[in-house]
Amino acid sequence: MLFKKKLLSSDEEARLIKAIHDAEKKTSGEIRVHIEETCTGDTLEACKKMFTDLKMDQTKDRNGILFFLAVESRGFAVWGDEGIHKKVTDEFWHHLTDCAIGYFKKGDLISGLEKSVEMCGEKLQLYFPLEHDDKDELSNEISY
Ligand code: CA
Ligand code: CA
Repeated sequence: MLFKKKLLSSDEEARLIKAIHDAEKKTSGEIRVHIEETCTGDTLEACKKMFTDLKMDQTKDRNGILFFLAVESRGFAVWGDEGIHKKVTDEFWHHLTDCAIGYFKKGDLISGLEKSVEMCGEKLQLYFPLEHDDKDELSNEISY
């Protein structure tokens, strides 16, 4: 847990969890954020692997989205499951990543992630509106 404290303060963590919670209020889609200290090798590959490790490929509508951030090595990637990937264009992912990296460059990791979560929430809402019997299929907690 020492490791965790170093990467995000509890306030920062609370902001992110709130962003995920708010985004998921409008959609059946599931969003998670994973934070590492460093990532060697390809960030997108690491993100994909984490997606599976977190069992994010097991949602009912295959509409999970994972944000992967390696703080020290400045790696960032997003992986959306096939349900959502089929609906959006590559531009969406590029725009999302560019927007987040814009914030990261200013040293504002949390706003970058917060904004990305919000953008994904809006997109997910279009294709996967909230259902009356919605379950929180995946925890909103940040994973480390
Ligand atoms: Ca849900
Ligand atoms: Ca969730």
